[in-house]
Amino acid sequence: MIHSIEGGRGNPRPRPPYPAEAGLWECPTLINNVETYANITPILRKGAEWYSSIGTEKSKGTKVFALTGKVQNTGLVEVPMGTTLHQIVEEMGGGVPDGKVKAVQTGGPSGGLHSSRIFRYARGVRVLAASRHMMGSGGMIVMDESTSMVEIAQFYMDFCRGESCGKCVPCRAGTVQLHEMLTKIVNHEATAGDIEKMEALCQMVKEMSLCGLGQSAPNPVLSTLRYFKHEYEALLQQDVETAK
Ligand code: SF4
Repeated sequence: MIHSIEGGRGNPRPRPPYPAEAGLWECPTLINNVETYANITPILRKGAEWYSSIGTEKSKGTKVFALTGKVQNTGLVEVPMGTTLHQIVEEMGGGVPDGKVKAVQTGGPSGGLHSSRIFRYARGVRVLAASRHMMGSGGMIVMDESTSMVEIAQFYMDFCRGESCGKCVPCRAGTVQLHEMLTKIVNHEATAGDIEKMEALCQMVKEMSLCGLGQSAPNPVLSTLRYFKHEYEALLQQDVETAK
């Protein structure tokens, strides 16, 4: 954003220096999202103690989520940090009409997917505070049993490869290759070893990319592999059966 305002290409730049020291035109710059700034006024008015009384020991305050997908009630919800996914999806969202929740994606296209198995059994656990997936921009998409997790991963990788600025190779080439691999699986053209290769490529893209986009782009693939590997394998098995 800073590069764009300065009239340049929207490329990330390595830090430090951080924007608070040298940001827009080398001046100290605060760059945060609107939700963060919106919290400042009530904190100044009511005090830090009031704000700290909301949420959990480690994560204070509230979080706004855009709840959408296969739920009865969609819209923006603001909840205390530490609210469980179960509370948001089933109690506020009203659950899936005529079906069951299969997965919930948080954190936008490069966030992660939570299996319903996890949050059904983790009702008392502070899923949002303790989760290994990002809350990010606060997107929350609910998916029902009819959703293919492999096609979802392919869809999000298509988005990430389009968003890559191309500055570093792991992200620029890695997201394209990951999308090709996912397409191969969806089309029943992949062999068993392709899943392992795809996992290894995901790790490489995560570790070697320069900025958050590349570092988080493999998350939908890795999280669907963690919880729904059988769906990937079923497509390979169909491939074998078709070949026979
Ligand atoms: S990770 Fe992707 S978006 Fe970020 S600098 Fe590298 S190519 Fe650009």
